Amino acid sequence: MTDPKLIDGKAFAENLRARLARQTAALKAEHGLIPGLAAVLVGNDPASEVYVRSKGKATKEAGMNSFEHRLPATAGEAELLELVRLLNADPAVHGILVQLPLPKQIREAAVIDAIDPAKDVDGFHVVNAGKLATGGEGMVPCTPLGCLMLLKDRLGDLSGKRAIVLGRSNIVGKPMAQLLLRESCTVTIAHSRTRDLAAECRRAEIVVAAVGKAEMVKGDWIGEGATVIDVGINRIPAPAPDNPGKTRLVGDVAFAEAKPRAAGITPVPGGIGPMTIACLLANTLTAACRQRGVPVPG
Ligand code: NDP
Repeated sequence: MTDPKLIDGKAFAENLRARLARQTAALKAEHGLIPGLAAVLVGNDPASEVYVRSKGKATKEAGMNSFEHRLPATAGEAELLELVRLLNADPAVHGILVQLPLPKQIREAAVIDAIDPAKDVDGFHVVNAGKLATGGEGMVPCTPLGCLMLLKDRLGDLSGKRAIVLGRSNIVGKPMAQLLLRESCTVTIAHSRTRDLAAECRRAEIVVAAVGKAEMVKGDWIGEGATVIDVGINRIPAPAPDNPGKTRLVGDVAFAEAKPRAAGITPVPGGIGPMTIACLLANTLTAACRQRGVPVPG
């Protein structure tokens, strides 16, 4: 039997991907539209290779077109900007994803700025950040979007709830806080200078942890009955003695301590990670519909 406290991002993401595949098939049949996602990888960072490969595979499994572009680690900024310009102009490409981090000689901000905001399926462009902050209809960053979907699925109406977001990065913390504000939560944004973080957390009915510090959020930081979304992905040594040299993944929340107090909690792995890729596909489908002027399926 499944544990009722577990918020199963893996299962939710599988359902979402199946729904997106059905919607993609319908778009093709009714409008001759096949959403296309271009992924750009510069260099051969092993983690980035894995991410790009799994994003490409998921894109194809949803029935969308996947275009992969690779540049050598020595590529210059001008070369990458030229590729982005070509992808902006290509009508078969509805979403552009430039895998970060980029090599040192390339300024990430310059590359993100060059992506057509309508094709910015990562939602990192300043135009999309601005739209999110001002109530406009832009592209929303995938990881916070996935967190919000799980929260709404679990809690329904979020209006009036006290939420805390741990972390203020441009890709997770800030857009997460904006999304919760848009849902009429009362939002606290915490960061490395926040005083008495434990007490701030304990007051919250919704805790979203995105700090990148293994098991930093202790069990007694979680208020009774809170809902906990753990975005963190941290690799730590596996317990001795059986696994010398091996590692395991943990979140930013001390899961075993936090779960008894929480009403619901996402595991790591199997929580937010799978949601991020599913939301990338959702954004690609949304972008394709908007660019073609057809209704975005609900
Ligand atoms: P960043 O390193 O960009 O930001 C971390 C944030 O946490 C900063 O705002 C920092 O504060 C804050 N912070 C750091 N230490 C503390 C502390 N001791 N107390 C309070 N706040 C602290 O990380 P990201 O936002 O990119 O990622 C966060 C985590 O989420 C990482 O583990 C990452 O791997 C994971 N992640 C997971 C994804 C997924 O698909 N599941 C996708 C993206 C990220 P300050 O600003 O003051 O420095």
